[in-house]
Amino acid sequence: MSVKNKVVVIVGASSGIGEATAKLLAQNGAKVVLGARRAKRLEQLVNAITQDGGQAVYQTTDVTKPDEIKNLVQKAKTAFGGIDVIYNNAGIMPTSPISALHTDEWNAMIDINLKGVLNGVAAVMPDFVAQKHGQIITTSSVAGIKSFPGSGVYGATKFAVRNLMEVIRMESAQEGTNIRTATIYPGAINTELLHTITDDAAAKRMQQQYNRVGISPDAIARVVNFAIDQPEDVNVNEFTVYPTKQG
Ligand code: NDP
Repeated sequence: MSVKNKVVVIVGASSGIGEATAKLLAQNGAKVVLGARRAKRLEQLVNAITQDGGQAVYQTTDVTKPDEIKNLVQKAKTAFGGIDVIYNNAGIMPTSPISALHTDEWNAMIDINLKGVLNGVAAVMPDFVAQKHGQIITTSSVAGIKSFPGSGVYGATKFAVRNLMEVIRMESAQEGTNIRTATIYPGAINTELLHTITDDAAAKRMQQQYNRVGISPDAIARVVNFAIDQPEDVNVNEFTVYPTKQG
């Protein structure tokens, strides 16, 4: 079973990587179910996909609220009769030095980037176990495999989801539930992510780097498409994607 006709829930679909992925998967025949907080952006995206002949629905979703992700998964079942894949992509990146003690932002990153992924996992796990089939894809970051100054908490959340995905893969193999996982580690991708940085110096530094090396989110969409497109007995579990110009 390839991308075509698969039901794919994308959490964090209203801009950037999630939006690009929704468009590409829908072009390739997937039925996409889109979640994020900004309803207007999701509505526009669903309209654009539908006008291009694709199949898409949306449901306003805050990943920090477990019931809202459960509702998103329910939407997939109601609209398209089931769920094959969840793509946990929602995230924020308000980087800053630890000494600045932006503790509200630390908590927000843990709530969205880590607990949000756990909420997504919990929302699909009962169906995936029962049907002995499913795929969980998560956007980590190169900050999830390497340490960077300014990324103490952001990187901590992204290291954490790496471990989570790998353990789910191993446990599923032991339990015979055929759940595949994939973790993606993007480098600098030109999206709205830098808007979440409130530390002026960090924002300026990052923007300069992204202007120099950043690439289109389509690069990550192609990787997600590739992971989903593999035969059921093939789990491609990790992808690091750097812009060619990023050292
Ligand atoms: P964007 O800011 O364009 O997209 C972030 C997405 O996350 C939006 O759809 C946003 O939707 C959603 N989101 C944020 N908070 C919540 C929430 N509480 N509930 C539901 N959805 C939420 O940035 P990217 O596309 O770059 O980010 C996607 C992922 O890629 C993130 O996990 C990010 O950490 C990761 N990443 C990005 C890199 C880059 O260079 N751009 C590099 C490495 C990793 P809304 O605001 O409407 O809720």
